[in-house]
Amino acid sequence: MAEVNVNLDAHSYTIHITTGGISLVGELMRKLSVGNKILIVTDDNVCPLYADTLSSNLVAAGFNPTVLAVLPGESSKSLTTANIVFTEAIASGLDRKSAIIALGGGVVGDLAGFVAASYLRGVPFIQVPTTLLAQVDSSVGGKTAVNHELGKNLIGAFYQPLMVAIDPQVLDTLNDRELKAGLAEVVKYGAIADGDFFTYLQDNASALLARDPVVLTNVIGKCCQLKADIVAQDERESSLRMILNFGHTIGHAIEAEGGYSEYNHGEGVAIGMHAAALISQHVGLCEQSHVTALKKLLKRLDLPLTAPGYHPEQLLSYLVRDKKVVNGKINWVLMSRIGHVEITHEVTETTIKSVLEQIT
Ligand code: NAD
Ligand code: ZN
Repeated sequence: MAEVNVNLDAHSYTIHITTGGISLVGELMRKLSVGNKILIVTDDNVCPLYADTLSSNLVAAGFNPTVLAVLPGESSKSLTTANIVFTEAIASGLDRKSAIIALGGGVVGDLAGFVAASYLRGVPFIQVPTTLLAQVDSSVGGKTAVNHELGKNLIGAFYQPLMVAIDPQVLDTLNDRELKAGLAEVVKYGAIADGDFFTYLQDNASALLARDPVVLTNVIGKCCQLKADIVAQDERESSLRMILNFGHTIGHAIEAEGGYSEYNHGEGVAIGMHAAALISQHVGLCEQSHVTALKKLLKRLDLPLTAPGYHPEQLLSYLVRDKKVVNGKINWVLMSRIGHVEITHEVTETTIKSVLEQIT
């Protein structure tokens, strides 16, 4: 079993990565100081696939789990659905020691984490992520949130899990589109923090698309380690952690403009990284060869680079509403070369518009 430790100022936890790991959750949880009652939050797609395995494993370890499945999709990251989860938590008699487990993708993780952060002012939270995106990104780092009709992730909390249990085998049932969305975040880690890892991804692009279990497990471990290192240095995103937002400013605008259905998060991020790389080149920070390398890898992973038919003006209006805007200025994460990024406010509207025209 591979383990990655996330060492934060006030709290440390372990990410366990192992094939068949879903059947080890009960055993691992016995080592944590949590009560018997457990609420498993999942969605209607994941529930029939893995909730029984997880539940019976918890029962065998002496726990008393209840399962609540929400509707799949971004629309469940809402205060309305959070309230359904709160109601179930109260009805099942969850107390301060009771754990909430998120069994699902980033939607379930963000929703269940938000509930765990606020129910009884915080109860133990465990992540069992089942999409590649959740395994390499959203389950690690403690960002939890629901959406508001006026914007994504606007209501939330930093709340760290007690443990993350990753079973790469559950990716067998994930469809190709969702797998590729996760690969976009994987490419992000190479682009922002690790040129050697980027080369590994270039060498193993076909193996990744073919879901080679060894390559996938290696990649998950590496991404968790990179994210853990970044989060450990800047838990609350006051500086370094911002680099994880590479590709997300324009990515979020594209997701929003498509009503969160035309492009999923990973696809938005792929287009957003392409745009950020073009901006980097435009302002003279990055040589074309690095932009080309990023484009080539995204293309090989069958990810989109552009959002044809979208309107630059429309996308621009989302950018100014983004959470990353402070005092009216957008914090741009730009690439200086593969493996290195810089944060700057110094990008003119003319540059942004011209790049938005290139990617639409
Ligand atoms: P998702 O949770 O919607 O899952 C994608 C789809 O895959 C869903 O239909 C789900 O039911 C299905 N699914 C999940 N696991 C499966 C499996 N093993 N087999 C078959 N089907 C499965 O989407 P996602 O891409 O995992 O997460 C996206 C969300 O994550 C967004 O809301 C985004 O904002 C959030 N996010 C949060 C962070 C963070 O740091 N908290 C980071 C990145 C993304
Ligand atoms: Zn992301």
